[in-house]
Amino acid sequence: MQIEFRKVLHDNSFLCFEQNGVSFKGSFKKLSNSLVAVELQASGKVLVDCDKCAKAIDLQIDEKIELKVYDGFFKDENEDLDVIECFDSIIDFNQIAKSEIEAIMCDYHYCINCK
Ligand SMILES: [Zn+2]
Repeated sequence: MQIEFRKVLHDNSFLCFEQNGVSFKGSFKKLSNSLVAVELQASGKVLVDCDKCAKAIDLQIDEKIELKVYDGFFKDENEDLDVIECFDSIIDFNQIAKSEIEAIMCDYHYCINCK
């Protein structure tokens, strides 16, 4: 799911989509001409490998994601780390969801036997 930056409304718009088998539900709204706030609730399961014995584990994802998308190069004055820059003036929610899932998967995970 994608939306052009200029088409984002100042009131909440709701969205619901799936990425890598994980469902994302939430809303987004424009805070200023170049800043959009996104809130998503991710829920579902992904398959990861145990970092100790490499056994496949079903990882339950149940996470609230809050971030901001900035249209262009973001000057990090407030050190707001949850800002994603967007350079083609299109917000790509699937890409955002994909990197959130990847970030979760990159964490260390252990199976029941290795915990
Ligand atoms: Zn293990």
